[in-house]
Amino acid sequence: MTIRLQSLWSATAPPGPVCGALEGAQRAQAAVISGGYTGLSAALHLAEAGRAVIVLEAADVGERASGLNGGQVIPGVKVDPDNIEALLGPYAGGRLVATAAAGPDLVFDLISRHAIQCDAVRTGWIQPATSDAALAQLARRAEQWWRRGAAIELLSRREVLQLTGSARYCGGLLDRRGGNLQPLSYVRGLAQALLRAGGRICTRSPALRLARLGGAWSIETPQGSVSAPLVIIATNAYTDAISDELRRTIVAVPSFQVATAPIPTALRSTILPDGQAASDTWHLLRYFRRDAGGRLVLGARGTFAAAPQLRDVQYQYRAVHEIYPQLRGIAFEYHWGGLVAMTRDHLPHLHELAPGLLAGLGYNGRGVAMATMMGRLLARRALGTAVVELGFPVTPVLPLPLHRLSGAAARATIQYLRLVDGLAHLHGRLRARALFKG
Ligand SMILES: Cc1cc2nc3c(=O)[nH]c(=O)nc-3n(C[C@H](O)[C@H](O)[C@H](O)COP(=O)(O)OP(=O)(O)OC[C@H]3O[C@@H](n4cnc5c(N)ncnc54)[C@H](O)[C@@H]3O)c2cc1C
Repeated sequence: MTIRLQSLWSATAPPGPVCGALEGAQRAQAAVISGGYTGLSAALHLAEAGRAVIVLEAADVGERASGLNGGQVIPGVKVDPDNIEALLGPYAGGRLVATAAAGPDLVFDLISRHAIQCDAVRTGWIQPATSDAALAQLARRAEQWWRRGAAIELLSRREVLQLTGSARYCGGLLDRRGGNLQPLSYVRGLAQALLRAGGRICTRSPALRLARLGGAWSIETPQGSVSAPLVIIATNAYTDAISDELRRTIVAVPSFQVATAPIPTALRSTILPDGQAASDTWHLLRYFRRDAGGRLVLGARGTFAAAPQLRDVQYQYRAVHEIYPQLRGIAFEYHWGGLVAMTRDHLPHLHELAPGLLAGLGYNGRGVAMATMMGRLLARRALGTAVVELGFPVTPVLPLPLHRLSGAAARATIQYLRLVDGLAHLHGRLRARALFKG
């Protein structure tokens, strides 16, 4: 049976702005390729600095990852702070850690400054631990953040049970800096804010060719062209032939979500009662939250199938039932997926591809806050902020070796990590049984 794909977010977001396609020969001070968080945040910050800016979006505003994601506003990046400092040195590493940690502040500030209606709540983000080893790792992570003054709490098994309503986890971490929102409403709100600030957005306007002509860049779309001295490419996991070298720096991996029918009233006060979002510590992590309508939304590794069958979404159904056995029998009403851009070092990257040509991408599944922040970094760099003042490194473009094999490698890695998680799960169950008997 083929699954009907529809995202909960498109069913519940207020309409976005109506924008036409680019027509004729246009000029701007800056052109931004992408109508997602990175592109719109960059364009908004440029427009607020008085620049004439045009956004070119191949689809519609937020039609890709920015309108499809889990809406979890997560502080920081995937790599732990001490490891980043070890990798980049204490100065550059420390600045990157601080910049990424401030991502949620920027998101919630933009939402309040531009009155964006997107069900935003800053109730914190939970990382529940699936094993004792994972809990020990969370304790080390918490200690690193405490040294940097962050509001993080380590949670016992009982506290995780109280906050999530799941007995599946043996403890966890609560990061009070995080929160969650309706991702499509948020990206549409950024677009409205950009239009109010004087920016232009052209949808159904894929950038097909990019060339340097005289002192400016020229971008061609099917029905028009833009000439601008500054271009920002923010196409992330959906990067196409517009920049092949950029496309080869990331691996696009599918992630898939399901949303249940509204949770029965009797259970609602026990499942994530305080409204946090959670992402657990499996290698192929499961992320879950409630939406404003009281549904459980859960995401996990996705299917590579273009038209998913029932068997392709059983993984998500089983995850819901394993984490919340009390939800067995609940209907699943929405199914949808998107692509996540993974990088070799698990860090996002800001590149200067050529004079006046900037790019930012590679959020490794943590882009709600970080892509918004990357947009501001790109705008600041474009406005002339020196690299040392930026708070984020500008790195060379390093395409992955054998990138053409990355799809097959991603599939193989997913199968491998699934096996690792499966064995860890089995080990935990056998251990629990032995303890129970003992
Ligand atoms: C299923 C899923 C769940 C996720 N959950 C979370 C989460 O809970 N929390 C979190 O922090 N992160 C999450 N992420 C990651 C997050 O969504 C992304 O990191 C973030 O949206 C990236 O934003 P972006 O603007 O860089 O890219 P996108 O939103 O993907 O925007 C790129 C845009 O570029 C456009 N484009 C591509 N090529 C061209 C071209 N040639 N011309 C014009 N336009 C072009 C595309 O149409 C697209 O709209 C998730 C991602 C997915 C897919």
